[in-house]
Amino acid sequence: MTERLSTRAAELDAADPLAHFADAFVRSEGVVSYLDGNSLGRPLRVTRTGLADFVDGAWGERLIRAWDEQWMEAPTELGDRIGRVLLGAAAGQTVVGDSTSVMLYKLASAALAAQPGRDEIVACADDFPTDRFVVEGLAAERGHTVRWLSVDPRTGVRLEQVRAALGERTALVLLSHIAYRSAWVADMPAITAAAHEAGALVLWDLSHSVGALDLALDAAEADLAVGCTYKYLNGGPGAPAFGYVAARLQERLRQPIQGWMGAADPFAMGERYEPATGIRRFISGTPPILGMVPMRDMLDLLESAGIAAVRAKSVALTGFAIEVHDELLAAYGVELASPRDAALRGGHVILDHPDFRAVTARLWERGVIPDFRPPHGLRVGLSPLSTSFAEVLTGLRAVADLLGEVPAAR
Ligand SMILES: *Cc1c(COP(=O)(O)O)cnc(C)c1O
Repeated sequence: MTERLSTRAAELDAADPLAHFADAFVRSEGVVSYLDGNSLGRPLRVTRTGLADFVDGAWGERLIRAWDEQWMEAPTELGDRIGRVLLGAAAGQTVVGDSTSVMLYKLASAALAAQPGRDEIVACADDFPTDRFVVEGLAAERGHTVRWLSVDPRTGVRLEQVRAALGERTALVLLSHIAYRSAWVADMPAITAAAHEAGALVLWDLSHSVGALDLALDAAEADLAVGCTYKYLNGGPGAPAFGYVAARLQERLRQPIQGWMGAADPFAMGERYEPATGIRRFISGTPPILGMVPMRDMLDLLESAGIAAVRAKSVALTGFAIEVHDELLAAYGVELASPRDAALRGGHVILDHPDFRAVTARLWERGVIPDFRPPHGLRVGLSPLSTSFAEVLTGLRAVADLLGEVPAAR
């Protein structure tokens, strides 16, 4: 049985048109299977020289002049590139800066301020903590009520559920496009349309989507979105997030952190804050330029592979992980807690077993690195350009080995 899986992994790797991209990433011998590229993407080898060149060149040689020469425009230039390559967003709507949490706060706050007379926020009770905490804080700040959608952690938010929570008091709907645990994909166009019908704005968190599947924000008539860049965009720890604000909304929205860099003329050192026109008004302070260097390297790779091909490989990788689950892990009582339907599944899968907390700790000691997500989920994140099918099998085989020995660990 495991022989069949080895043959299958080898065949899939041999037929994979994106297989050669795996060599572009830094590998350490101590890691035999990296299954957490959706929490922190591997660095690219070219980033070593990219960072050294940055220190010697733009920073070391150009010094303060680099602000005029390239850095002032970096947040919008990089934003436009993310928009074009990955988001299905026309230029002038995406900006890079802040952390995901801060960007989420800024855009949600701006949306609420633009909805006078509406005092309800619809959000998901099973969303990633930052998303829930930001909503909780904003509701307290403004005296708003949160309509929490309770979803089965094995499924995602459903259109009907959102529809039932919407009303004339709804100001904002804030949801993750792909659930961080189950990988369930929410129906962005339909949910967005339903919210608009009720007069609400929608803010999508794309942290687990961007770089794993093709997005079409403009076509879905999305209002607002944020996303993380150290996951599938390999920007490195703390790389800045991006924010998307549809062009039609920009002049109506005023973000809450009025810093000098988002002002109309930063170097006028003006007396009063006047927001810049367009997407620049969502910048607050000096953007983290350093974290943009590795991200640009990954964007080069994603652009040359093409996001449609990246999604196809992602579907194949998660599909193979499910095959290994069915043939090898199900016998140990492991349950698949992600959708079998590829159209509803993001770039990771989650497997449940009561022993997985103990198993994950032992896997890490063996150089097999998945994530553990309570209550007992082993999350297998498969970054399409850096992960081979053989690597998936190596990791999941180690899970089977440990479950074979484990009973004592419970
Ligand atoms: C990873 C992630 C974040 C990260 O927020 P930071 O401010 O970068 O720590 C936020 N939301 C979701 C849904 C995430 O998956």
